[in-house]
Amino acid sequence: MEKVEFKIPYTKFGTIFADKDGDNLVITGVSKDYDKKNIWALVHKGYTLWKYRDNFAIYQQDKKFIGLGLDKEDNLVEVNFSKRPNRHIIKDEQPEGAYWYAYDIATYNEHHILLKAQKVIKRTQEEARIKAEKLLYKNANENRAKCGACERHIERWDEGNWNGVVYDHGFEQAGYRAGVCIGARYQPWEKSPEGKIVYIKQLQDREAEIVKCKPNQARLDKLIKASDEYVVWNNELKKLKEDLWQDFRQSRWYPYKNFDINFRRYLLDTPGYEKFESPKRNPKFFDVNIWNQTTLDELLDAWQRQLDMIREIISKEQIKVDNWKEQLTAREIINSRG
Ligand SMILES: [Zn+2]
Repeated sequence: MEKVEFKIPYTKFGTIFADKDGDNLVITGVSKDYDKKNIWALVHKGYTLWKYRDNFAIYQQDKKFIGLGLDKEDNLVEVNFSKRPNRHIIKDEQPEGAYWYAYDIATYNEHHILLKAQKVIKRTQEEARIKAEKLLYKNANENRAKCGACERHIERWDEGNWNGVVYDHGFEQAGYRAGVCIGARYQPWEKSPEGKIVYIKQLQDREAEIVKCKPNQARLDKLIKASDEYVVWNNELKKLKEDLWQDFRQSRWYPYKNFDINFRRYLLDTPGYEKFESPKRNPKFFDVNIWNQTTLDELLDAWQRQLDMIREIISKEQIKVDNWKEQLTAREIINSRG
C-alpha cells in the first residue's frame, strides 16, 4: 500500500489523498487550500462528505447537515445547519466572523474521481519518473555528485590528485550565503560520509559558541544601553532630515536612490556631524530586537531556541552518518547500464 496524492485537471476537487494498492484505490481525504492544511475526511461523525471548500466542509446524513470548518481564530468548529444549506444558509449560519462562502465550492463525487484517478496517478508518476531520469543524465554528464554537507549535486574534481572530491561551492544557510561550503574538497556523499562529518564538526563549533553566549543581566544592560544610544542617534537623524530637507534637496547629494546614505553624506559636508558617518543599527540578540523594556527572560528564550535548533540539525545529520552506505553516483548508474 502506498500513499498517493493527485489532482484531476479541470475539476474543482482540489488535492485528493488516497491509499493505493495496485489497481485498488481508497480515497482518504480531500483538500482545497493551498498548503493542504485542511484535509477533509470522507466521513465525519457518521455524516458523509457532501461539499467542501478551502476552509470548511459540509457533511450530510439524510436531511441533516453539519458544517465543519475554521472560525475567525482558525479553530476547527462545527455548526448544525437548520436545513439543506444553500449559499444564503451558509452565510447566515456560519460561525460568527468566519469566512464561509459557497463560491467555488466543490461537490464530492467519488464516482467521477475514481473514473479518472488511475490515469491521472499513472501520468503523475510517469512525469516524476521522466523528471528523475533527466536529472540523472544531467548529473551523469556533468559528473555531479551529492555534497556531504549541503546535499546539493556538485561537480566532482578529477584533475590532478583530487580524486573526484566535490568542487568549491557556496553554502546557503537560513537565507544568507555563508562562504564556501565545508563539504567542498571532500568525497561526495555517495562515496564517503567524510563531508558530512566535517559539517557536523562545524555545527558543533557553532553550538559551543552559542552556549558561550548565554545571556545574563550584565549583557542585557549593555544591549539596552546600546539600544538607547541608537534611539538618540536615530531621533537626531530623523529631526535633521525634517529640518534640513529643503537644503538637502538643493545639494549635490540629492538622491535618485539610497536616500539614507546620501543624506548622511550630505551631513558630512558640515563639521560636527561626524557621528553620522557610519550607519548604526539597533542591537539584536539572535532574533530579538532590543529596546529598553526587553527582559532577560526574552533573551534566554531566544538563546534556548537557537541552541535547540542547532542541536536538532546536528542530531538529524548524525543519524544520516550512522546509516551511511556507499552508493553509485549518477555517472556510475548510467555507466552500469552499459
Ligand atoms: Zn556543499
